[in-house]
Parts: sequence; C-alpha cells; structure tokens
Amino acid sequence: MLAYEIIRKKLDGEKNSAEEIRQLVMGFVRGEVTPEQMAAWLAAVYIRGLSDEETWWLTETMAKSGRTIDLSSIEGIKVDKHSTGGVGDKVSIVVVPLVAAAGVPVAKLTGRALGHTGGTADKLESIPGMRLNLSEDEFVTQVKRIGCAIAVATEDIAPADKKIYALRDKTATIASIPLIVSSILSKKLAGGADAFVFDVKFGDGAFMRQFEDAKALAEALMRIANLAGKKAVAILSSMEQPLGHAIGNAVEVAEAIDVLKGNGPDDVRELCLAVAAQMLWLGGAVTNPDEGRSKAMELLQSGAALEKFGQLVSAQGGDTSIVEDPIELPQPSYRVEVRAKQSGAIVRIATRRLGLISGQLGATRMGAKQIDPSAGIIVLKKVGEPVESGETLAILQSNKPIGNSIVDEVRDCFAVGSPVERLPILAGFVG
Ligand code: URA
Repeated sequence: MLAYEIIRKKLDGEKNSAEEIRQLVMGFVRGEVTPEQMAAWLAAVYIRGLSDEETWWLTETMAKSGRTIDLSSIEGIKVDKHSTGGVGDKVSIVVVPLVAAAGVPVAKLTGRALGHTGGTADKLESIPGMRLNLSEDEFVTQVKRIGCAIAVATEDIAPADKKIYALRDKTATIASIPLIVSSILSKKLAGGADAFVFDVKFGDGAFMRQFEDAKALAEALMRIANLAGKKAVAILSSMEQPLGHAIGNAVEVAEAIDVLKGNGPDDVRELCLAVAAQMLWLGGAVTNPDEGRSKAMELLQSGAALEKFGQLVSAQGGDTSIVEDPIELPQPSYRVEVRAKQSGAIVRIATRRLGLISGQLGATRMGAKQIDPSAGIIVLKKVGEPVESGETLAILQSNKPIGNSIVDEVRDCFAVGSPVERLPILAGFVG
C-alpha cells in the first residue's frame, strides 16, 4: 500500500485501517517510509485526530515494534505506574518498594531526564554503585526474588516510539492526545505489566499545562488501556509547584528515603499513598483503594517499605549505607542560598523554569555530557507559605560555581504577594 494514499486519507479526515497504520509505522522504522511522509501523517493526525480504534492500532504496532518483556513467569498481578513527568517527581522511588512490600510484584522500566523534568533512572544512579541497566533475565529474576526491580528502558523497547517522538519533537506535533497516548502506552505495554496506574500531571511544571487537557489525556489513556485488555486508573495531580522540596537527583533520593521513613513533605507522601493505594487495589492486595491507602500507610510506618527499598538498592549493587544515612549520597562543592527581597506570601512558583535551572546546575544532561548527581535545588517555601524579606527561599547546589545571575533567576521564580490558599496535590481520579 502506498504511504501517499494512507496520508491522503488522514488529511481528508478519513479513517485509516489497522493494516495501513501498521504498514506506515513499520515502514518508517525500516526506512521505507520517509521522514517527510511520516511528518505529513503526524500533522494530519494532529489536526484530524484518531478514533480510539486507530489509536489502539497505532499503540499496538509501536509496542510490538521492538522487544517486549515477558513477565508471565512472575506470579501475581504485575502492576506498573507511569508519571507524565514533572519537577521533583520522586514518587516511583517510594511506591515501587512500598507496593512490593505488600506482596504485589513491581517490574518497573523507567526513563531518563527529558526537557525540564528529571528521570527516575538518573535519580537512582546517584546512589553509589546502583545499576539500572539490567538484562531482561536479571530484571525478571530480581522481581521473583525480592518482589521489585527498576531498570532503564533500553533502546529496543518500542523503537517506533523513539523514532516517531523525535520527529514529533521537530515538527511541533507533540501535543496531540492520540499521539501522546500511543507513545506512553506502547512503552508500558512492551514492559509486560498487567495493570497500570497513571499519574497525569497538570500545571506550570507539567507537560499538559491545563487541567482540562490533562483530564482528556487521562480519559483517553483509560479507554485505550481498556482496549488493550488492561486494567488502569489515572490520578490527576498538580504540578503548579515542585513536588516536595527537592529537585535534582541525590537530593530527591534523600527526600524519597525520608518519605519511606514515614516523614517527608506532605504533598509527596499524599501522592505516593494515592498511587500506592490504586496499585495495591489493581494488584489484588486489598479490596478497595481506601483499604490500599491504609495498608500503604501501615507499610511506611512499620518500616517494611524502607526495608524493601534497602533490598532493592542492594540487589542492584547500590551502597545501602545511604538508606540509614543519606549524607553518604553525593554532596556538592557549592551551596548558595536564595533570599527573598520582600515580605508577604508565596503566590506562585515558576515550576518549569526551576526545572530548567536545576538542569543548568547539572541535574540533567541539558548542555552537559554528564549529570552532576549532587546538583539541584531545595525549595524551602511553597505556595501559600508566608515569607519575610531576607528569609531563604531556596538553596542551590552544584559542583560548579553558582553565579549571581542564576540566584536572581531563581528568586524571580517565586512570586511574593498577598496570602493565597495552599495548593492541593490531588485533583481527581479517572477509571
Ligand atoms: N511522554 C511520552 O512518553 N510520550 C509523549 O508523547 C509525551 C510524553
């Protein structure tokens, strides 16, 4: 079938068949369909949309375009979680061992930093010795042995998504719900889990700025996951300010450990409990999410989740002394405080900008070859909190000297004014 005809149909608002979508996508992966042709089809999809059936065919084709992980030898319902990406998002580091501590197996493939958002793989690699590049055999064997594993998704997982995503990035066709759904879900399906919890974020630091768009994405994820025969739940959570206090790698691991010890910032704990509650419910460990939340709380308070985290770190070669003593995590050569210039209350935090600045400090690969595991930002004031002139708003960390221009830029990220309400972290559930 001619790519020309497949593109024309979509440009004219007609439906493509499963076979047409498969031929186009696999033709593009093999180099038989040109980037110009694929870009034209993506632009047509951006404007005309895809039906749920077409979105499912696209998702399935991309999921099967490379290696798929076979988790069938692991007993029980395997539940995975996915976040659409945010600033300070350390939820996976907490919930993977937390859910595993309740006996629900978690085999988690994870990504690296993307744009202004960090990646769980980079964060965990700040633990000395911790290895994220597990072979499939190591990955599955570890889940059987200790109940959980976290590995970086290799290039051969949904390679069609990688090629298409790069083209979407160049052609301004990222913000299309069917294209986002197929991109996210194809990688999740290739990871082999039975059920999924999606943390769909909205707000300044999220990929979807508007709540309504995030909700539409969550609903589409649910519909296509169901067409794939998978159970799924989506949580809508706010990214109008960084999650917790820490943005970076080692600093986020330290904060996650704090939550695993039953402490940590309220918003991180609330979101972790919400995600874990749904995972425990989908995994059959409890009969409803409320019971899941109580169970998760119990596992944090008893130390069982922390113990499981220690096992996870040890199994993947990491230095377990960081569990007791996070001071053993990489520390920066430079720390600079950013102080407020006026009194009032924090009314807004430019979250996306803070994410980008943490990258400039070395927390992501933006412009640098290597990540500085100690780099990042500690946000001390959150929306709704009072602040006095001269008080510290944030602490910047890096292994390279931190100039005044960065300090001023971070200060500008905190808008100070008249008192406002604190921001809730959870905004709803879908599915
Ligand atoms: N995350 C993905 O993995 N894919 C998208 O298209 C958008 C966000």
